[in-house]
Amino acid sequence: MSTDWNIQAAANTCAACNKTFTDGEPLFSRLQFSAEGYARRDYCAVCWNDPARSGATGVWRGVFRAPPPPAEEPLKKETAESLLRHLMETEDAHHGNAIFILAVMLERRRILAERDVQTRADGVKIRVYEHKQTGETFFIPDPELKLAELQHVQEEVVTLLGGTPKKMEEKAATEKHGQNTDNTVEAR
Ligand SMILES: [Zn+2]
Repeated sequence: MSTDWNIQAAANTCAACNKTFTDGEPLFSRLQFSAEGYARRDYCAVCWNDPARSGATGVWRGVFRAPPPPAEEPLKKETAESLLRHLMETEDAHHGNAIFILAVMLERRRILAERDVQTRADGVKIRVYEHKQTGETFFIPDPELKLAELQHVQEEVVTLLGGTPKKMEEKAATEKHGQNTDNTVEAR
């Protein structure tokens, strides 16, 4: 089985006409979910107006950002974003909960924006985030954590980040799962 999570960068060229995008150009991104996984296609404004693509779902409008030149990064403490990327690269299913919590943290910090939620054929909810700076798409399965699990995973993540657990981060992810929290209490 391929891993559930996935990052896809914005294409450099239009999926229909192959025109190379320029920095700051508006583009239209479309997501498709299939048995092979997730596919993101980016279109220029002209091709997007083709009637063949009207009525598509899983679509958003963005702006193409030319990749920055590679920067010389000084050694620094792991950030929530670098940790998220690192865990996603490991392709280890055990990191699923931590990956989700990190994505929620980055959404709260307005580094990621949630663009879509799709339910896969197996019932798993996939949250689709866009990185506001780079335009990359992050596909993150929602493990639908219960409150007790949530706190445990958050403490684990904060420890990985080299800090001590903070109430604020706990609150952030708990709010997102308010509806699940109620169910958990009732079930006990
Ligand atoms: Zn085009």
